Amino acid sequence: MYLKSLELTGFKSFAKKATLHFNSPITGIVGPNGSGKSNTAEAFRFVLGEQSIKSLRGKRGEDMIWNGGGDASTGSSRANRASAKLVFDNTRRIFAGIDFDEVTLERVVHRDNTNEYLLNGTAVRLKDITELLATAHIGATGHHIISQGEADRILSASIRERREMIEDALGLKIYQWKKLESIRKLEKTEENMERVASLRREIAPHIRFLKKQVEKIEKAEELRRELTTLYKQYFAREEWYVQTNKETYSHELTGPKKELAELDHLLIQAKEILTASKNKDKKSDEVIALEHKLATARSEKDTIMRELGRLEGEISANKRTIEKEKEKQKKDEFKTVYLKDVEEVISSIESFKSIEDAKKLFSEVVATLKSFVTRHRSITDSALIAESEHEIHALESQRHGLESKLKQISETESHISREYNELKQAIEKEKDTNRDAEKEVFRVIARQNEVRHVISDLSAKLDIVIRDEELLKRELGEAGITLGRDAVTYEKMSGHVETEPRAAQEDRRHQIEKIKIRLEDSGGLGGSEVMKEFRETEERDTFLARELEDLEKAKTELKQLIADLDVRIDVEFKTGILKINTEFKKFFALMFGGGTAELTVVREVKRKKKSDLEDLGDALSGEFDANTRMGANDANESQEQTPEGLDVNVSLPRKKVKGLMMLSGGERALTSIALLFAISQVNPPPFIILDETDAALDEANSKKYGDMIESLAAHSQLILITHNRETMSRAGVLYGVTMGSDGASKLLSIQFDEAVRVAK
Ligand code: ATP
Repeated sequence: MYLKSLELTGFKSFAKKATLHFNSPITGIVGPNGSGKSNTAEAFRFVLGEQSIKSLRGKRGEDMIWNGGGDASTGSSRANRASAKLVFDNTRRIFAGIDFDEVTLERVVHRDNTNEYLLNGTAVRLKDITELLATAHIGATGHHIISQGEADRILSASIRERREMIEDALGLKIYQWKKLESIRKLEKTEENMERVASLRREIAPHIRFLKKQVEKIEKAEELRRELTTLYKQYFAREEWYVQTNKETYSHELTGPKKELAELDHLLIQAKEILTASKNKDKKSDEVIALEHKLATARSEKDTIMRELGRLEGEISANKRTIEKEKEKQKKDEFKTVYLKDVEEVISSIESFKSIEDAKKLFSEVVATLKSFVTRHRSITDSALIAESEHEIHALESQRHGLESKLKQISETESHISREYNELKQAIEKEKDTNRDAEKEVFRVIARQNEVRHVISDLSAKLDIVIRDEELLKRELGEAGITLGRDAVTYEKMSGHVETEPRAAQEDRRHQIEKIKIRLEDSGGLGGSEVMKEFRETEERDTFLARELEDLEKAKTELKQLIADLDVRIDVEFKTGILKINTEFKKFFALMFGGGTAELTVVREVKRKKKSDLEDLGDALSGEFDANTRMGANDANESQEQTPEGLDVNVSLPRKKVKGLMMLSGGERALTSIALLFAISQVNPPPFIILDETDAALDEANSKKYGDMIESLAAHSQLILITHNRETMSRAGVLYGVTMGSDGASKLLSIQFDEAVRVAK
């Protein structure tokens, strides 16, 4: 037994809390008309989540709440809430998901029409209740709760509704729910797939754009790597080149520089020599002076020689005078007056004109004559000899003086001459030295030119190397800025370095410039942001792709699940129908004492293609277009077999009429009961509530009904609302419902006899 109790508080006519305990397989509820019995059956529907207030005989939820009743003296004021609480025994875990031995379901409705659902005291959603009940095989269609006047509901229902009810009764609802859920999930999945696909479509151009950027960046990165490698090679070699050449040229320069310094020194020395020789011009002056002196001495000597000669002459003249005088003295008579002298005296006398002139002339003739006599007389004078001798003597003394002077001068001359020669020799020697110095000057200057040439050559080379070094420094700085530390961190070349033509290095530089230009053109700088974005976007795309894959997988799985559920529902439905038919026939024959009845599967053809969900939605909402039954085929429209419906075929014993339409009210009731019981027999629900289902039965049938009830009670708990004595007799527990003047229902446990009385 699964049902433990039902507690009503403020529910409809049950103003005060009333509890029904279901301790027996069959519980009977009896009472006079209008006492509130049906309200208890409705309380079951209510608590199980019935949404149709109409089917609970109300207009609004508020109508479920005790509305007060009776007159002012006896009545009680209306309630603010109606509550129905159903307690289940869950020791056998009919509610598989709930690990408690007791399960309490409670529904409360408030005046504002709001509802609360409580599962074991905890607020839950209606959906949770519905699903929970489906698992316990307590369906929402309420096939196990037959309300008053609804006994033939299953017969008056459409074939589709009937199928619904039977599916519910067969416990297929849970699969339907699962299927519906799967279809919803499928739709959601497809929506998600579309959303994800559209997201991917949206980001695809961005990814393509970013990819191009990244490719550019990667290319730039590649170029940077290439450039870095090239730079390293270039720098290493350039540094080695610069250093080596600098050292070489510097070293090579030291020799010539030293030599040049030495040459300078030599030149100074040589020039000093030459400068010194200029000073030695004094020597030439000296030579000249000596020459002058020598000339003076010689001229003096000559003068003396000439003087001596003259003296010699005078001496010899004097000597000849002496000799002549001596001769003349011997021949004085031979003295003669020259004609010319006589002519001169005559001309002087002839030329006088006056006395004064005669006086003057006379004195002049006298003078001339006197001079003539004087002259002739001295020569012939013997004193002349003495005078000449005297003169010779003077002359010889003079000659003696001159000769000693000559001797002195000759000595001086020879002295000067010697001095002159020595000086001359010295000058000659000096001239030789100067020539050497001059030669040295020329040599040194020539060598200096050579060395200077070498130095300038080397310096030019060194300058080039220094320029190369500066260039290298600049390039290092540049590379450091462009490419970072790595590019300027290279292994230094040392030891033996394989030589290569300088052009190779030029080629490298050229190559470097080319790459630099390409790098600039690529514009791939500041790429980390783009890389990051690309990575993120790509990750997102991958994520979406994976999500799409997952969704695709889920879709396939859901489709498979739906297909599996369809198969399962189909199989279980068909086998269920077979089993129900067996029972149906049995109960029918039992009720009618023969005849036959069965459920037949009707397949419908729909013209319009609908989605599974629409179909199922229709099915679950019970909307069914009867006009679409038994498909009128339209060849132009796509046809689809819709879920099957169920028809009921009956064939009464001893009667030719067939079909439900032909049955009397009682016959309909019996057929309904037979079908209901057959269904309940095949898949017994935990409980069945029958509200005056037996109302139309005659006594004989009431007996059969009673028997059937007892066999049903073996599997399901029964709650029977009845006026029927026979039915009452089958109940283990009886409740009587009465209504006092206050309009409120009262509940009391009663005995059979009392029940019979109360029922009336
Ligand atoms: P019958 O045997 O004739 O079928 P019953 O015992 O099944 O009668 P019910 O139909 O359950 O009787 O009870 C109906 C009674 O409940 C009515 O008298 C009605 O006035 C009362 N009732 C229904 N709703 C409310 C409410 N909200 N407040 C007070 N009374 C209510």
